[in-house]
Amino acid sequence: MDRLTTINTKEDIFPQYRDTPIGLLLEYHNLNRPFDTYDNARLLIGMCMDNRKHLHIPDNFAYIIRAGGANLRYSEFKVSYAISVGRLSHIALIGHNNCGMVNLVDRKELFIKGLVEVAGWDRDRAEEHFRHFAPMYEIGNEIEFIASEAIRLRKQYPKIQVAPMLYLVEDNKLYLIKE
Ligand SMILES: [Zn+2]
Repeated sequence: MDRLTTINTKEDIFPQYRDTPIGLLLEYHNLNRPFDTYDNARLLIGMCMDNRKHLHIPDNFAYIIRAGGANLRYSEFKVSYAISVGRLSHIALIGHNNCGMVNLVDRKELFIKGLVEVAGWDRDRAEEHFRHFAPMYEIGNEIEFIASEAIRLRKQYPKIQVAPMLYLVEDNKLYLIKE
């Protein structure tokens, strides 16, 4: 948690992000900047599918890819699409605390039982499903994962600015991750 930077004023935004779409996201969401009007998206946001998070941003401002743990490793084509067709040069990668994609093995039984009871799967299939996919979707630690994912995306898309952030579910604010 000591890697998180609180954003209470525009000056708290790291200089490299200030006055970019990444800085604007922080201003809209954390600082209640009045909404501007957009005809085209300016920013790609990658965030978790978790229901506890809601961003305060203007209409048309951003493309949003929601995936467990804000893990974009399996959304590559969608990221490429947003960059190429959407002409976006900035990505905000937003993890959050208490993410369900941390320590999946703890929820293995719940997962299997749920698929059997709610979806009507047989147990063997549900077990195999968990065994196959859990290692791909496990993120380990929210902050470290988002920071490493930002590095991976910068390597993949060298001209794109990628900002790792964390959303705290207790106060619904965005925090910049120090790298
Ligand atoms: Zn999550």
